[in-house]
Formats: sequence, C-alpha cells, structure tokens
Amino acid sequence: MPNGRSADVVVVGGGIIGCFIAYYLTRRGVKPLVIEASGIGSQASGRAAGIITPSWGPVPAGLMKLHPATFRMHVDLAARLPEESGVDYGYELIPHVKLVFTEDGAANLRKWQAERLAEGSSVTWLTPEEARKAVPYLTGEPLGGVVSEIEPQCDAFELVRAVARAARRGGAQFMAGRFAGLSRDGDRATGVTVQDGSQVSAGLIVLAMGPWTGETSRLLEFPVPVAPQRGQLFTLSEGSDPTAGAKVGVWAWDVGGFILPKRIGGTIIGTTREDGVGFDRSVTVRGRQNVIAGAARLNETITEASIVGERACLRPVTPDGNPLVGPVPGWRGVVMASGHGGNGIHFGPVTGTAVADLLIDGRTGYDLAPFAPGRFVSGGAKAAGKTRV
Ligand SMILES: Cc1cc2nc3c(=O)[nH]c(=O)nc-3n(C[C@H](O)[C@H](O)[C@H](O)COP(=O)(O)OP(=O)(O)OC[C@H]3O[C@@H](n4cnc5c(N)ncnc54)[C@H](O)[C@@H]3O)c2cc1C
Repeated sequence: MPNGRSADVVVVGGGIIGCFIAYYLTRRGVKPLVIEASGIGSQASGRAAGIITPSWGPVPAGLMKLHPATFRMHVDLAARLPEESGVDYGYELIPHVKLVFTEDGAANLRKWQAERLAEGSSVTWLTPEEARKAVPYLTGEPLGGVVSEIEPQCDAFELVRAVARAARRGGAQFMAGRFAGLSRDGDRATGVTVQDGSQVSAGLIVLAMGPWTGETSRLLEFPVPVAPQRGQLFTLSEGSDPTAGAKVGVWAWDVGGFILPKRIGGTIIGTTREDGVGFDRSVTVRGRQNVIAGAARLNETITEASIVGERACLRPVTPDGNPLVGPVPGWRGVVMASGHGGNGIHFGPVTGTAVADLLIDGRTGYDLAPFAPGRFVSGGAKAAGKTRV
C-alpha cells in the first residue's frame, strides 16, 4: 500500500466502543488510528442517556455476566479519567426507582428484583406509600416499585470526549474519513480503504461502526445482523420542570418512560424503541407524544413543561440482544465490536479491554463466546471460517 499512512491497529468508528478500544490499547502501549466518518461521539454514543447500569430491563445473560467487571471499570475510570483527559463527564451516583402500574408489571419487577438480589445487588421493594416518599413529585398511582440506592450515570457525550482525549494523550491518532473497504493478502487483512481513495495499511483492523457495521456484510462476505433501532430523548426546561431538584432517576417500568435528572444538561425524559425506521435519525411528533405520555404516568404536569432539547439516535441491535465481539470468520486480523443495543455506554469499558486483549495477546480472560460474530451462520462460527485474530 504505497500511497497512504500505516498503523499497527486501525479502529473504524469513533463511538464509545471504538474510543474505549483505542483507550485500552494505548494503556497497553499500542497506538491505534481511529477513523471516524461524522465526528467522535456524533451518533448514539454522544446522545445516549448516560446510564451506567443495566437499569432499564432484561439484559441477555452473556452480557449480564460482564456487568460486575464493566461496573468496576467505570468506578475506576471515574477516579482517574477526568484528570487523564481534562474532561468532567458528569459522573455521579443517584438512586433509581422503578415503579409499576399493572399486575403483570409488578410480577415482572418482582422477578427482576429477585435476579438482582441473587447477583448481590441491593434492591428494595417499595409499597405505594414508600414510592411516594422516594419520588416527591409523583402524581400517578403505582402498585409498587423498587429502589436501588446508588446507580452511576454520566453525560454520554462528555464521556466519549474524555475517553477519546485520554486515548489521544496516550498516543492514539484520529482521522476524519469514511471507511469504504478492506484490502487483503489471502485470508489476512492488510489495510483499509477510505472513501476519498486514500489507504491505510494495518495488520489489525477493528470494525466498531455501531449500526452501520451491518452494512459490511457484502464486503466481508459474511452476514452481520446488526440493525438500527431509533430512540428519542427530550430535555425539559429548568423553569417549567415539575421534577426539578429531585435527585432520583424514576422509571414507569411497565408502561415505558423515565425521568432522569442530570448533573450536566438538566432533566431528560425518554425514550422510544423504534425498529424498522432504517437510518432515519429524525425526532418525530409521535415519538415526542409517546415519551411525554410515559413520563406523565409519573407526574401529570409534565405535559405542561417546555421541551428545550430533543435528540434521536440509533441503537445497534442484534437478533439475540448480545453484541458481536470477536474475530470475523474468514478474515485474519479483523475483529468486530458492535451491536451493544441499549447498553453500549455501560459495557464500553469491558468491551474495550477485551478487544485490546484479543488484538495484543490473541485471547482474553473475558467470556466472549456468547458474542461470536459467526453465531448466526448455520453451523456457528466454525462453519463460517477461521476465527483467529
Ligand atoms: C435514546 C438512547 C439512549 C441510550 N441510553 C443509553 C444509556 O443510558 N446507557 C447505555 O449503556 N447505553 C445507552 N444507549 C445505547 C448506546 O448509545 C449504544 O449502545 C452505543 O452508543 C453504541 O456505541 P457504538 O460505538 O457501537 O456505536 P455509535 O455510537 O453509533 O458509533 C459508531 C461510529 O461509527 C461511525 N461510522 C459508521 N460508519 C462508518 C464508516 N463507514 N467509516 C467511519 N466511521 C463510521 C459513526 O459515525 C459513529 O460515530 C442508548 C441508546 C439510545 C438510542
């Protein structure tokens, strides 16, 4: 590849997953090149709610097993990343309350609570009276709920900025450009082509393009079932926010909707889960109505609050809810890291660490078997070709 630059590792995609991979590579002395098409953190990673816990609902078992590890990493990052990067990303611990309004919802939440207790988390059941005390602005009539006292959260965009900046300070390079193809010598990848025609030679390539990773199927000659799922979030104006001052994240768990106060950026309400909209990142009237209706189950005067911010972005979702993390069958030197659905901020650190291990050592101590990119091919990853890095 005579006409371009070169790097030991190229990471395609500067969302939270690509940035954490770059960050953990630099911590192990490897200086990758990150290629990003539309701006670091400009997609879901920079627009997410910033919850650092699998709080919303069921998370697939394979991913859930990595929860304690990624949780510890976030705690560790909170202690040093602001200094390493010079960015305050709004990390804080607040209580989370999940309320239920239907009998089915109550039964499901009891089950969810039992699972969390079995993992060793402290989650307490609330009677309707206790729920009213825990959520001072509550006007709805829940059947009950649960509270977990200390749940971490942050500003997602500032987190991506912090991780990217710390990676840069550690020697990572960032390049604006749209990945367009791979070059190979036999089954070994030798580099990437960028849409402007330039080339970067690299022996190791990571595809971390969020929902756009699904568009690499033809190029890889391998099915990549990652699809976009739209989510919309809205920010309340401080002056008209009936929940202002309450330092608690609250979910209408069975009817949809949450109200989340943030240290940076005010109170947000969310969210939609819209499949089949392709890569359309528009905020819609219906999305806004649904989100307000969900939040109004918690406080009916939310319908009168002014909305000062709105955003829509795309979760990278897979058929079984687990991400695709590991070597791409049929390609030596190509690793995929995508499909984290609604949990990429939370599982970013463990994904970054595991992928850095794979690239440097050829293996990792984290169990990536449930995430094998070849698992959707008939006969599994082996049938789809070689799975070595
Ligand atoms: C409304 C909403 C709220 C959410 N809230 C939370 C939350 O509270 N906690 C949580 O853990 N998760 C949350 N998520 C999920 C989280 O945002 C995603 O799981 C995560 O952002 C995925 O990160 P990613 O890096 O894989 O993808 P992305 O953020 O999509 O990043 C991929 C990057 O690749 C780039 N790219 C694509 N194609 C190319 C190309 N050809 N060349 C170069 N670059 C390319 C894109 O421009 C993009 O920057 C939320 C999601 C939504 C939609």
